[in-house]
Amino acid sequence: MSELKPAPRVERISTSPSAVASQRARELRAEGHDIIALSSGEPDFQTPPHVIEAAHKAMLDGQTKYTTISGTPELKAALRDKFRRENDLDYANDEVMVSTGAKQVIFNAIMALVTKGDDVIVPAPYWIAYEQIVQLAHGTTKVVRCGPEVGFKLTAAALEKAITPNARLLMLNTPSNPSGAVYSAAELTELADILREHPHIWIITDDIYEHIVFDGRKAATLAAVAPDLKHRTLTVNGVSKTYAMTGFRIGYAGGPSELLSQMLKVQSQSTSGPSSVGQAAAVAALTGPQDFVETCREAYQDRRDLIVSMLNQTTGLSCRTPEGAFYAFPDCSGLIGTSTPDGKRIENDRDLVMHLMDDHGVALVHGAAYGLSPNFRVSFAASMDNLEEAGRRIQAAANALVRN
Ligand code: PLP
Repeated sequence: MSELKPAPRVERISTSPSAVASQRARELRAEGHDIIALSSGEPDFQTPPHVIEAAHKAMLDGQTKYTTISGTPELKAALRDKFRRENDLDYANDEVMVSTGAKQVIFNAIMALVTKGDDVIVPAPYWIAYEQIVQLAHGTTKVVRCGPEVGFKLTAAALEKAITPNARLLMLNTPSNPSGAVYSAAELTELADILREHPHIWIITDDIYEHIVFDGRKAATLAAVAPDLKHRTLTVNGVSKTYAMTGFRIGYAGGPSELLSQMLKVQSQSTSGPSSVGQAAAVAALTGPQDFVETCREAYQDRRDLIVSMLNQTTGLSCRTPEGAFYAFPDCSGLIGTSTPDGKRIENDRDLVMHLMDDHGVALVHGAAYGLSPNFRVSFAASMDNLEEAGRRIQAAANALVRN
């Protein structure tokens, strides 16, 4: 059998590290190990029943065929309403589109915008897909380190410094995966002031965690804060996280029609469009009762308080309190350079995460996977009991590490 030599563009990328960690957790569990998986970026709540009923009804009513490439008229109307109601953003019918998850929206946009020689500014820590999709598009990521000292956020000064003549695109993500950082309207205004001076730069803002914000915050979005940049901003969102609908695979965007029409070409030649059933379910989610959203938000906040306090009581760890999303991203520099009781050296955050998984049964994702080390990501989309037990295990593991 001849060995497959993949195309170079595919050789450059790899499977998502959080999917790999979650898969490893499942395998260890299947072998009988007691594993608490805090590795996955997925709400642990069930999809609201009225959404499932809407999907069922749509199928019985015959909505089981291809839809318009850009999305059904019903969902696009619901999206325009959503953007107006929640974000103060007015988009015309040809300025909204639906895709197979927010990930595909971002894929379409990067494919439509980025080519060889283009720089894409990506604040770190970042959702790994940004970097990988830019690689697929033959672009170059310009990673800007945004550590805990700046709240894991891109400052205006750091943005200005990162801008090159080849800069084509800036990726923003608020609330952020993996840091939980949330940009205030004032912070976005400061970024907008810089972007205004550089009209060659497009902006993708990934707002998928917009409803998971804590302590009375409200998420802000760039196009609403700086309407004069709306014509070069793509506002990305989806139903996966807000309504616990990851498996329905529905994401969407608002943005200028000249960009959307190019993205639709990519979509037309890749998926032909999002699932008809998923779209009917998304209409129900966006137009139906919203109490589920607040219930989840409150639960995530309680879980955040528990896990962040436990992490901060752990030897060698220090964790900034995330303002949104469902991730904590503790700094673990105090544990680097130690050894496990059986003599394995912890050289970096990957070694630490492997040790926590293999010897203590907690699945996490190492910070290097998000472009910032030494850290790890803890998803707190898990029950209080599991979080408490995971926190105890992490504390016990840290206490048992041998300082050399
Ligand atoms: N953007 C961010 C920052 C995410 O964390 C995720 C999922 O993990 C997505 C986008 C993709 O969501 P979807 O399920 O809509 O593709």
